[in-house]
Amino acid sequence: MYGTAGGAADGWRMTKMAAFHAGRDSGPRETQPNIMGMGGLAAWHAINDLPRPPLPNTTATLLSSNTNTHHPSPSIHPPRLAATTASTATMEHSQGAHRAPPAHVDTDQLAHEMTERFRQVLSTRRMNELTLRSGQSRPSSPAPRDFGTPQPPPVQNAPPSYSSLHNIPLVPQAPQDARSLRFKNMLTSLSNMPVRWENPGLLDEALSAIPLEQIYNEAEEESQILQAEAESLGKKAAWGYQDCVIRSLMRWFRNSFFTWVNNPACSRCFSPTIGAGYVAPLPDEQARGANQVELYKCSVEHCGAYERYPRYNDAFVLLQTRRGRCGEWANCFTMLCRAVGSRVRWVWNAEDHVWTEVYSVHRKRWIHVDVCEGAWDKPRLYTEGWNKKLSYCIAFSADGAMDVTRRYIRDPSKYSLERNRAPEAVLLHIMDEIRALRRSNMSKQDKFRLEGEDMREDRELRGYVISSIAQQVSQINADDIANGRASTPRPDPDTSKALEGRTSGNAQWIRARGEGGRGTPGQQQDPNNQHPR
Ligand SMILES: [Zn+2]
Repeated sequence: MYGTAGGAADGWRMTKMAAFHAGRDSGPRETQPNIMGMGGLAAWHAINDLPRPPLPNTTATLLSSNTNTHHPSPSIHPPRLAATTASTATMEHSQGAHRAPPAHVDTDQLAHEMTERFRQVLSTRRMNELTLRSGQSRPSSPAPRDFGTPQPPPVQNAPPSYSSLHNIPLVPQAPQDARSLRFKNMLTSLSNMPVRWENPGLLDEALSAIPLEQIYNEAEEESQILQAEAESLGKKAAWGYQDCVIRSLMRWFRNSFFTWVNNPACSRCFSPTIGAGYVAPLPDEQARGANQVELYKCSVEHCGAYERYPRYNDAFVLLQTRRGRCGEWANCFTMLCRAVGSRVRWVWNAEDHVWTEVYSVHRKRWIHVDVCEGAWDKPRLYTEGWNKKLSYCIAFSADGAMDVTRRYIRDPSKYSLERNRAPEAVLLHIMDEIRALRRSNMSKQDKFRLEGEDMREDRELRGYVISSIAQQVSQINADDIANGRASTPRPDPDTSKALEGRTSGNAQWIRARGEGGRGTPGQQQDPNNQHPR
């Protein structure tokens, strides 16, 4: 079914059907008053305020159940939690805070349990806060000289006033100021990228450029191996056939199809060139979609030839030029993933990078794919791997838009940059608006399915924030807190997996971008750089 463009369309339809059924399984929307709908940072702050009294009893249980199982860590976070912990007699809990650590601890299980308990704590705290605020928001006596307004009799347990509900949850707000409007226009314009790929002629052309038989054979082989491995362990296979197709496509794209170009070589003498600024595109370059042309001068003095480097962002043209930096790579590769029948997203990052997300029918979630790096499902690559701070990561598809920053920043205290391009409520509004635009011609049923998917993903993203905190709390050593000692770090296996510096581009270019990973000195990032290159 994958052999032709028609086959690809079948694949697309099947993907949609599977996703539809998956969406139906996702259950009703959560009703508890927690951080749903808040941006990553807002959510973080909400949780960061968590351990303030009044706290429900679950906190004591939560902390005491972990006091005996973990090694020390300096990244006790948030700090207020440690103070609260020490001061609330948690240590005296009957579970025994001073037991010797067992030889082996299943931290994943622990983190999962804590995640659940955190949800409860959050919910209870929100309710406490609301009750508290509704009490405070009523004036205790009428304002001076206001004798005309009859005062209502005091009511016990009155519902919270609307003013107390601001940001719980965040209500989308239309952009008002110039800065927010600029952000909206930029995101709306970026959101067009995946729409351009929905072109049967382009996808046909793309399929003819791909060695389909080789890719499908490789995928078949890999998925069979994964299946056999999984069966021997009595588990579900890590990845399905469709995932393996994308993995194989990525290998081919990197090894045989696309070339990384920093400075184009001199076409006269093949020597290296030196950057000489930007020039206006020629009519021919402009016709092929290049809005920007970089100019390079040959480094050999007696040659001195100039080399033009038009930055094409038309996927059709890229099928022929087959070269570029992250922008061109992500554009062309994401389109090819679409051509082989996957649902795709193009992820824009405000700190000058772009990558792909592919919907895995097998895993029922969006998978991070960075073709420049050959990275598959490594969302922590940029922060924990490249040691880069991020502000916004926004995913665009032909049928939606989503702020996916929380997938890529698991530890906001270390890796988040200020999100100051628009208030969070405005960003929510912009996302809603782009979604509505993309879905305007869809049937009610399709819209409903996609909304279900959005809600499910929002739960997934909130889960990352919550489990990141649970993970950190689980690393607190009770003895250290009780004795007022600073803790020492415990290596996180997930983190060490991501500790790879950037591999695409030459060393100088990587250093200039500050993406060399741990311990690599880099220049200051420019948060205002808006070019996804
Ligand atoms: Zn030359």
